[in-house]
Order: sequence, then structure tokens, then C-alpha cells
Amino acid sequence: MTAPVRTNDPAVVDVALAGRSYSIVIGRGQLTSLGQRMAALRPRAKAAIISDETVVKHHLAATESALAGAGIGSTCITVPAGEKSKSFTVLEQVCEALLAARLERGDLVVALGGGVVGDLAGFAAAIVRRGLDYVQVPTTLLAQVDSSVGGKTAIDSRHGKNLIGAFHQPVLVLSDTALLDTLSRREFRAGYAEIVKYGLIADADFFAWLESNWRELFAGGPAREHAIAVSCGMKAAIVARDERELGERALLNLGHTFGHALEAAAGFSGRLLHGEAVALGIVLALAFSVRRGLLPAGEAERVERHLTAVGLPTRVSAVTGGAPDPDRLMDLIAQDKKIKHGRLTFILARGIGASFIASNVDAAEVRAFVAEKLASK
Ligand code: NAD
Repeated sequence: MTAPVRTNDPAVVDVALAGRSYSIVIGRGQLTSLGQRMAALRPRAKAAIISDETVVKHHLAATESALAGAGIGSTCITVPAGEKSKSFTVLEQVCEALLAARLERGDLVVALGGGVVGDLAGFAAAIVRRGLDYVQVPTTLLAQVDSSVGGKTAIDSRHGKNLIGAFHQPVLVLSDTALLDTLSRREFRAGYAEIVKYGLIADADFFAWLESNWRELFAGGPAREHAIAVSCGMKAAIVARDERELGERALLNLGHTFGHALEAAAGFSGRLLHGEAVALGIVLALAFSVRRGLLPAGEAERVERHLTAVGLPTRVSAVTGGAPDPDRLMDLIAQDKKIKHGRLTFILARGIGASFIASNVDAAEVRAFVAEKLASK
């Protein structure tokens, strides 16, 4: 792991997908370059910015002025903040508003917000006029390291999260790390869980670097850009090899099998944020790896120590409102389509930086493990 370079130049990570390749530009203050970058990609395009009510208050004016500075006219479509906007109702409003703004093929949609806005705007872009190009301007840490990259777009159904969507890659991702300065500490921490995940999947040195540098990353120094660039680099490489999640892209689900179920049990509410659920899911996935004799207990304890140090939850009993019962949790895992014929696919670890896809895990064994963990304080 090399030290971050101190420079005003952005870090650029390329996502290599043949005709659909794009760049992820990462750096403090980069929002000012948005208009020029969009004009270079699509000369004479106009733009529709899709954002949420909270992000608009903080960052719309600067975004509009970056576009206007490059001669790009824009309209803004604002949706309520929060997961509930990933619905058919809001999708319809956004699609109608894009058409009312006379966006044509060749124009650009700009998703200015966290993962909710990115998923919703990306999906609207995928279906309006059979596909408009779009740019991701992620404003949460989670979105900068995860949801803005890779082209998964979706809304939720009453049957579950992200069940209606499309693969639709953006043409540019621009991550201005200064936009994260207005994010709440809790949301920032939740996004950090996804950064830890990358170290655990395949980069032990990166995990060790995070243990030493996380404070600077939180404070907003060059460590922040570095960690985001490393995370995006890893996601970009995996997506380039397995865009449609037919194989190794599933590694990115480390911590998400338990995590999604816990998040659903908490009603996708402020009781448990996505990244917090991922932190708990990681702890459980590693404990399960220890239980199966795959991972030394000391490695799992080291990860738990780090998550605790940054203030992420590591005990299910700490979730407001208490833990669900094991049958409910297993039901939720099944609903997430993770159990087939009594077997489930799990991301387990043989070490820090050595995660792997374990298919064929016996659901009964997982249930017994979950029952024990939910019973312990
Ligand atoms: P979010 O978009 O709801 O943002 C969290 C909160 O922070 C919101 O209230 C938002 O208004 C506020 N906010 C955003 N940026 C801000 C800023 N700069 N300053 C102040 N407040 C700000 O949530 P999220 O955690 O970014 O994303 C979660 C969503 O991402 C979920 O719907 C999840 O399914 C999705 N996701 C998608 C992928 C993918 O590959 N497409 C991957 C991971 C997660």
C-alpha cells in the first residue's frame, strides 16, 4: 500500500467495459470541473439534475453554476430524501419530469445525491426514451465508494429491495470528496463500512492502512481521496471482469447476506443504516468463517476491534428496537433470494483480504449459528 500523493490533480479510475467504459474522477473541489467534463463528453447536451431535498440545499447551486460555466443549461428534479423515493410513484414523477424538460437522446441526466438518488436517477435514465446517458455525482461516502460505480440501478418493490431495475452504466462518475463535509457523522461512518469491506475482500495491506489512517480519512485529508480511489479501483476491476454478477462480483456482497436481512428487519429505517447493517453482517460472516474452521479467531477479532474503534455497531443486540428472532431473519435471507433448495451462497473469509464465494452452505447450519448469535449480548 503506497502513501497517498499530495496533489490537486484528481485521482482517475477507469472502468473498462469496451464500448461502455467510463472514468471515475475523485478529488476535493472537483465539482467545479463537472460542466467542462460533461461538455467534453457530449458537446451541446443539456442536462437534468435529479437530486433529493437535503442535497439540493447543500450542493445544487454549486452544481448548477459548474454546468452554467460550461454553457450547459439544466433543470432540476427534486425528490424526497430517503429510501422511500426508490418507488414506482417517484420513478413515474421523475420520468414525466425528464420528458417535460424535453430531454432527448444525447442529453445528460445528472444524479446528484447518495445511493437512493443514484439508483433512482440511473433507472429513470435507463428507461426514458429507451435509454439516456447519465452522470453520477455521488454525495455520500457510500455512493462514492460503491453505488455510483458498476451500473446497477433500481427501485424497490413491496417484495423486496432493488427488485425492479436495470444494468445501465454511467458515462462519468465525478466524486468531489468535499461534498462529504456536509454529511452527518453517522452517514459517513456507515459508508466507511463499505471501504473496510474492500480491504477484507482482497487487500490485507489496505485494511492495515485503514487501521492506521482512518482518522485522517474522516477528517477529510488526502487519505479520504486515497481510500475512495482504492475502493473504486477494486470495484472497477471486479465490474470489468463480471459486469452482470455471474461470478466474482458476488464477492462485493461480503457482509450483505446478514446485513440486508437485518436492515429489512429494522424496516429500512433510521434504526439501522445500510452501512451499519453491513458492519454487523461482516462481523457475523467472519464469525461464521471462524466457526467453520476457515478463519483464525484473532483475525475476526481484529476486524471487530477496528469497526468498534470507528464507532460502527458490531453487536446485533445494540440495534435500537432489538434483534429479530432467528426464523424471521432466515425468512428475510430467503426473501432476498439467497437460499435455494435449503442451501445458500455466502461470502466467507480465510483471512483478512482473502474472502471467497461459498456456495452450497447449509441453511440449517446458518440458522443454528444465527440463533446463538442473536441470543448473545
Ligand atoms: P441516501 O441516498 O439515502 O443518503 C443518505 C442521507 O444522506 C439522505 O438523507 C440524503 O439526503 C443525505 N445526504 C446525501 N448526501 C449528502 C450530503 N453531501 N450532505 C448532507 N446530506 C446528504 O443513502 P446512501 O447510503 O447514500 O445509499 C443507500 C442506497 O444505495 C440504498 O438504496 C442501496 O440499496 C443503494 N445501493 C446501491 C448500490 C448499487 O450498486 N447500485 C450499492 C450499494 C447501495
